[in-house]
Amino acid sequence: MVSEEDLSDRFEKLKNVVRDFIKLIGDNPDRPELKDTPERVARMWLWELASGYGKDPDEHLKYFYVNSANYISTNRLVAILNIPVRSICEHHLLPFYGNAYIVYVPSNEVFGLSKFARVVDVFARRLQLQERLTEEVADYLFEKLKTEGLLVMIEAIHTCALIRGVEEPLSMVTLTTRGELSTDIKLREEALRIIRTRKPRKSLWFLKP
Ligand SMILES: [Zn+2]
Repeated sequence: MVSEEDLSDRFEKLKNVVRDFIKLIGDNPDRPELKDTPERVARMWLWELASGYGKDPDEHLKYFYVNSANYISTNRLVAILNIPVRSICEHHLLPFYGNAYIVYVPSNEVFGLSKFARVVDVFARRLQLQERLTEEVADYLFEKLKTEGLLVMIEAIHTCALIRGVEEPLSMVTLTTRGELSTDIKLREEALRIIRTRKPRKSLWFLKP
């Protein structure tokens, strides 16, 4: 766990770094409009964008409401869809965002719906690669759910590509499977079919042609 003392020390240092950053890219950190920017940026990084470091997904974290319309249970599979993903690409320090989809074979482990969003969030709130984020979420859930089979898919838009003028690909899909969802082709097809029937959240639509 990160101590408050350590955090406020890093906050002070980070503010200076942001100030230097503004200067080094050619602007003037002393102009009035930028007065509060170093503090705002440092706060955003430490308490939001990079808040996943040192956190255990088991701990109580911010609650995310997962709409029951995004929860599907068939006799063989349970699916949680449209889980918000907000992360930072470790190559460019720019955000990528989208949805995660988790499908698993029900086991005896009881897992609240909001827990899935928390798990995704803890692993996402740090510098990431979408591929690694997908694997980390899958490894964690496969162990905790004690399930026979699991599929994790993330679809995300990378603003580093968007903002630098790269037309394709805007949205990237990563998918990983464990247990029966790796070996049983039919079951995997069923899982993917459930995901396909769901509409993505509106936030992704406006970027699609
Ligand atoms: Zn990037």
